[in-house]
Amino acid sequence: MALPIEFITRTRALLGEEYDKLEAALQADVPVSIRINRNKGTKAPSTPQVCWSETGYYLPERLSFTFDPLFHAGAYYVQEASSMFLQVVLEQITGDTPLRVLDLCAAPGGKSTLLASNLPKDSLLVSNEVIKSRASILKENIIKWGYDHIVVTNSDPNRFTGLKGAFDMILVDAPCSGEGMFRKDEKAITEWSENNLRLCEERQRRILSDVWDALAPGGYLVYSTCTYNPGENEDILNWILTTFDASSVEIRHNFTAITPSPFPLHGYHFYPHKTSGEGLFMGVIQKND
Ligand code: SAM
Repeated sequence: MALPIEFITRTRALLGEEYDKLEAALQADVPVSIRINRNKGTKAPSTPQVCWSETGYYLPERLSFTFDPLFHAGAYYVQEASSMFLQVVLEQITGDTPLRVLDLCAAPGGKSTLLASNLPKDSLLVSNEVIKSRASILKENIIKWGYDHIVVTNSDPNRFTGLKGAFDMILVDAPCSGEGMFRKDEKAITEWSENNLRLCEERQRRILSDVWDALAPGGYLVYSTCTYNPGENEDILNWILTTFDASSVEIRHNFTAITPSPFPLHGYHFYPHKTSGEGLFMGVIQKND
């Protein structure tokens, strides 16, 4: 796997000596993990569990999922393990009160199906995807998952601007430069460029500006990317904090392999040389009441 030289330079500056471990992990096999659907009575496999998800399990190898009727029945969702950390976030920021939740960039539906399984009873989930062909895949996956409190929409983020305070929680799993997907997706490597990083940052700020008004005072914005660079992660969270009236939320956990953002910001990095999953960043912001 030949990585772009500018990526190597930037990421080595970010990680220091650890960079070589990251590069070695990128040459290793991709761990395969699934999240089971308790609502369908799916039995847990007798394989190691994902440590931050009670429904996440690693499989010894990648199966031909498309030949498995249980896959098409929504008995499980194939999801890389780092993303399942969303479950820990939800445990902390939700209680028993039903919530109105928007998953703004939702296709193909990994985080929406996780939300569906973990939101308080009687919550409403609006699962949105701007790209039409991807919205169809999202709809299919949501139908298979089998919950009835989800609405799938196909709208640009700016269509939500007028829905002032409509949502108690918004998840923005932003389109990004995809550095964390390098070992899963060769295209992420060929499309990577410094110019693309800037375009991603601009788009992320635009998406967040569009949707900010739709978040209720006191509500939570969960922001995530599958990339490592601070420009699309910490800088975006800091930009939210300086542009809007909001606070960074600490997520309490016991997983030492997760790399925290520099204090006082609360952000969480998953690196494939430290955790068994792909690259991910997640941070939570609360809109001040
Ligand atoms: N949350 C999804 C999941 O867990 O399965 C993955 C989402 S993926 C990281 C980002 C999504 O953002 C893609 O589905 C992409 O089509 C969508 N997207 C691309 N451009 C966008 C834009 N300008 N505004 C909103 N969403 C966009």
